[in-house]
Amino acid sequence: MQLRYNYRVYPTPAQQEALARAFGCARVVFNDGLRIRQSAREDGLPYVSDGELSKRVITEAKKTPERQWLGEVSAVVLQQSIADLNTAYRNFFSSLAGKRKGRKVAPPRFRSRKDNRQAIRFTANARFKVLDSGRLRLPKIGDLAVRWSRPLPADPTSVTIIKDAAGRYFASFVVAAPDQPLPRAGSEVGIDLGLTHFAVLSDGTKIAAPKFLRRAARKLRGLQQNLSRKRRGSANRTKAVVKVAKAHARVADTRRDWQHKLSTTIIRDNQAVFVEDLCVVGLGRTRLAKSVHDAGWASFTAMLEYKAARAGRAFAKIDRFAPTSQTCSACGRLDGPKPLSVRSWTCPCGSVHDRDVNAAKNILAAGRAESLNACGAQVRPAPRAGTAP
Ligand SMILES: [Zn+2]
Repeated sequence: MQLRYNYRVYPTPAQQEALARAFGCARVVFNDGLRIRQSAREDGLPYVSDGELSKRVITEAKKTPERQWLGEVSAVVLQQSIADLNTAYRNFFSSLAGKRKGRKVAPPRFRSRKDNRQAIRFTANARFKVLDSGRLRLPKIGDLAVRWSRPLPADPTSVTIIKDAAGRYFASFVVAAPDQPLPRAGSEVGIDLGLTHFAVLSDGTKIAAPKFLRRAARKLRGLQQNLSRKRRGSANRTKAVVKVAKAHARVADTRRDWQHKLSTTIIRDNQAVFVEDLCVVGLGRTRLAKSVHDAGWASFTAMLEYKAARAGRAFAKIDRFAPTSQTCSACGRLDGPKPLSVRSWTCPCGSVHDRDVNAAKNILAAGRAESLNACGAQVRPAPRAGTAP
């Protein structure tokens, strides 16, 4: 399984300059490629192929006086930048054709030095190397100091160097991580991702976002308000922007750590995990958007999914065809819509339900039913002898 391992890196001032140059070159190549494809389209010419584009914006461009400095950075970095452009185009086309799930993909847009995130990628071809000293050797950049917060489980196939809005640098390695099957667990769980709690489990456990996370989020909101009062273009505004970016990065890091712990526990304790397919895209357009994005469910379910695959656990997203909060999990009766303010209700069958726990139980039941269907071919009885014509 392909996994990402992220580490903070600390480039020296000279290395920061070399990185800035590489970010710049990758951006120029990307924008040149985009411009060529856009003007081909405006002129009614056919789509410029990947090979042709790479030749024009890298190989041939390097020979011109205006672009000769492209030779100062690793060629792999430039090729990977064009590969990103090609992927962006492919995603856009398949989204147009309706072959892609989820939100509509916009056509690729120009990159700017003011983007919040600058990144370059080195593949194995670039001969990047983790040295015995623990430094990361990058061609034409140097040997970077890395804070190894956990060991790499295997040799990485690529590394992306990222500079975020808070001015921090990261190395993100792609590693083919070996599976880590866990001993069989006795229980299965359905998870309701709610607005009153971060998550509610079918066994009745309610998980609230921890206090420190809520406090950090509140502080961030305060800083954002403070920023909005600063005059555009003023030095104070620039300072406030960095402050917000730093606070934002801290909240994101803390949330990720917390979600890692929670998802690891859930996968360890359960043989099968079912969550509702959230259609977060749909929810995101409503006024619930803020809490949805704060909660970060998408990243959480993604963690559950890859950890389940690695550990040999079952994981499935349940389609929202079933109104999980309206159906009695004891008798299956559909009891009609309930406003969010109704936290508990009694079914005519006598069962008293906590709204969220009931929903989680229904998700578990739907997940079990679906996994039974999936093996239906094996359990269906063989046709009786003698019925054939
Ligand atoms: Zn009932």
